[in-house]
Amino acid sequence: MRATAALLQKPGQPFELTEVDLGQPRPDEVLVRVAATGICGTDLEFATFFPTPALLGHEGSGIVEKVGTHVTSVRPGDHVAMSFASCGTCTLCDTGSPAYCRAFDTVNFSGRRPDGSTAVTHAGREVNAHFLGQSSFASHVVAPERAIVRIDPSLDLLRAGPFGCGFQTGAGGVLNVLQPRPGSSIAVFGAGAVGVAAIIAASLSACMVVAVDVNPAKLKAARDLGATHTVDSSAGATADQLTTLVPDGFDFAIDTTGREDVLRTAVEALGPLGRAGVIGIGPSESMTFEWRSILNGRSVTGIIGGSSVPQVFLPQLLKLNAEGRFPVEKMITYFPFERINEAVAAVRSGSVGKAVLTF
Ligand SMILES: [Zn+2]
Ligand SMILES: [Zn+2]
Repeated sequence: MRATAALLQKPGQPFELTEVDLGQPRPDEVLVRVAATGICGTDLEFATFFPTPALLGHEGSGIVEKVGTHVTSVRPGDHVAMSFASCGTCTLCDTGSPAYCRAFDTVNFSGRRPDGSTAVTHAGREVNAHFLGQSSFASHVVAPERAIVRIDPSLDLLRAGPFGCGFQTGAGGVLNVLQPRPGSSIAVFGAGAVGVAAIIAASLSACMVVAVDVNPAKLKAARDLGATHTVDSSAGATADQLTTLVPDGFDFAIDTTGREDVLRTAVEALGPLGRAGVIGIGPSESMTFEWRSILNGRSVTGIIGGSSVPQVFLPQLLKLNAEGRFPVEKMITYFPFERINEAVAAVRSGSVGKAVLTF
């Protein structure tokens, strides 16, 4: 079948709207008509180096049009959100940790199905797709059943997509991994969509929540959505500002920036036994800190996809959202799909919290 897609023809170039050919779903796959898709920082990061032609996008939501013969969890007409893929057969998938699937890179970042095939072709050329289980910068997606989450049809389908990546990543880092006790202190570095999801989750856990960012508008939004304190790191002396707020050091920190200097500040802001969760992909290749600085029981944990089982965690978050207790939709700015490059520019400039493309 034909689908409209925003194709990346060369790394670093704008997305190009064009028609692609999409194959039929295989027995374990689902054809979804996309209603909306978020734009995540990971899309923009991969757009700088992913082998082209490529079809990115991984925060899609939509309606099931067709299912493969082995699919049992959804049927045509169901409303769904899409999340990362996992193999379903390794020991980590079997023990409830699909975010750490041993085949995670192959099934999410190879641009192909595990057997090397792709469902998407353009002008006779194979397109690198199947990105994070979906490639949702397109009107239709062929996704593996394990990346599909059925959602309550009474929920707002247009806002559901970012729950499959950004919102789940921020909230899950707090609720699934750090699990702060009420009254704990937590510093969240970066008040973008992922950071604010973490901030709201920490405020649901009755924490003292300090948002750290260089952008005053983002800090204001963070405070409106649950941060108890804010630190403007553009003013410098971030560590001193944090020490003034919590002289004994924080119980927890979350880094969403992937920047070496920020990671170091996050670790050094912790008190004894403090835990830092690293949840963002950013520009730095490495992080460094004095080895003595973690002798006091501090630890640093990398976290993928909020360590969640999407089929369990997404419905929980969407329910909280519907109840008004996880109001991440306040960060969303909607753009028509055709204006994807304008939306990307807005994300890059930081002028929108979360851009969502609608079809
Ligand atoms: Zn696996
Ligand atoms: Zn993402």
